[in-house]
Amino acid sequence: MQLQQNWKLVQQRIIDSCHRVDRNPNDVQVVAVTKYVDVDTTQAVLDSGLNQIGESKVQDAVPKWKQIGDRGVWHFIGHLQRNKVKEIIGRFQYLHSLDRWSLAQELDKRLKQRGESMKCFLQVNVAQEKQKNGIYSHELKDFALDVANLSSIEIVGLMTMAPLTPNSEEVRPVFRELKRLQHELQQLQHPQIKVPHLSMGMSQDFEVAIEEGATWVRLGSVLVGKRS
Ligand SMILES: *Cc1c(COP(=O)(O)O)cnc(C)c1O
Repeated sequence: MQLQQNWKLVQQRIIDSCHRVDRNPNDVQVVAVTKYVDVDTTQAVLDSGLNQIGESKVQDAVPKWKQIGDRGVWHFIGHLQRNKVKEIIGRFQYLHSLDRWSLAQELDKRLKQRGESMKCFLQVNVAQEKQKNGIYSHELKDFALDVANLSSIEIVGLMTMAPLTPNSEEVRPVFRELKRLQHELQQLQHPQIKVPHLSMGMSQDFEVAIEEGATWVRLGSVLVGKRS
């Protein structure tokens, strides 16, 4: 019940944000981040019409699939260790956190073994925060060119996490910079680096992210509440 209400409110906020900048709300998709909640709530999220599920830990996601079965499109959004790569292949269709070359190589190797491919966002540490993962902006072009050579990895866009701050206006330059980086990569006109998508915006800053061009927002607490 609460979930339905939250989702309705979020939908309206997405529409309002789009209208402020003349965007089509259909161009913004929501990953419902269920990392805080149990299997039943994750199930309820799927029942409420949210089909894109985001998880940030392999050990939390695996038991959920086992119970939920073949429903939903799963997005891995957290830091991924190399030794966990084999566990996500075949289940997660998107990786939002491709943030280093060693991970890209391992992923490509395992995907090839399985004859699969994966849609990946290159994670950029725009604000250069020491505690955050991601490629620095000035290294992004070379990283993208390297990853483009790995045929099992489909680069679909860029992802960033903005600094945590109570004032969402402060993060606007971070989102704007990711948009600029997208444009820069698109100017390479490289067939393997199309980067149509921007995965940016979480519960506290998704409206600003949408105003700055987000096509995927990753929403946890605003939909399902905080970890209980
Ligand atoms: C947890 C998480 C989110 C969702 O966070 P909320 O603030 O609860 O919306 C989004 N993206 C990533 C990478 C996360 O780890």
